[in-house]
Amino acid sequence: MELLYSGKAKDIYKTEKENEVVVHFRNSLTAFNGKKKAELDEKGEVTCEITKIFFDYLEKHGVLTHYIKALEECQFLALKVKIVLLEVVVRNIATGSIVKRYGLKKGMKFKEPLLEYFIKDDSLNDPPICTSHIRALGFETEENLNKIGELTLKVNDLLKPLLEKCKIDLVDFKLEFGFIDGKLLLADEISPDTCRFWDQDTGKSLDKDLFREEEGGVVEAYKEVLKRLRTAVQE
Ligand code: UDP
Repeated sequence: MELLYSGKAKDIYKTEKENEVVVHFRNSLTAFNGKKKAELDEKGEVTCEITKIFFDYLEKHGVLTHYIKALEECQFLALKVKIVLLEVVVRNIATGSIVKRYGLKKGMKFKEPLLEYFIKDDSLNDPPICTSHIRALGFETEENLNKIGELTLKVNDLLKPLLEKCKIDLVDFKLEFGFIDGKLLLADEISPDTCRFWDQDTGKSLDKDLFREEEGGVVEAYKEVLKRLRTAVQE
């Protein structure tokens, strides 16, 4: 297969069809904009499986995604989209940088979900950007931005109860989007690499913070999320 694009944790390959691509999840794990790196056995297949479950679930609940179908381990077939050059972060519970910025208590639940936008540009360190700048700099129109915001909140509203069944708090997460013929689709991945998940019983992280903070047990925690999700979607 011909490589179309190689990111920090995934590769995108061309297929025989112009409008379809293969998304391949690698075992690479990076943090702090690529400054911290590792290769972890089985990480790719676990994040791929989790993403497939989330996308499948979201599709069933009316969210358009680029996901088409599962392929072999670590891979799925997806629609080729024109990617939106923004990363959208949702925060339900305070942790990380926002705690320091506003002097909040870690674990505080926000009265409503917080939306934050970042420019997808590693050379600029993915800088934050507000909606008026997004419009003024021509990254997206007001109409598209409204659609992106609405879809992001819908995804949050759908994921929270699913994760609740798994006894997991959805602390925060990042989404990416794409367009096909003017239609907005959810793209990229949703996994413990892109979300913060807290175990409701122990309060422990089941996500990439284990790697960021050198706590170990990363793939084991990701597998635990997968196990709980498999059970939850069957119920
Ligand atoms: N995130 C991500 N990719 C990024 C930046 C953030 O997947 O390039 C996810 C991250 O895993 C977390 C959420 O988005 O679940 C918020 O991340 P951020 O780096 O903004 O967290 P902070 O350390 O600022 O709280």
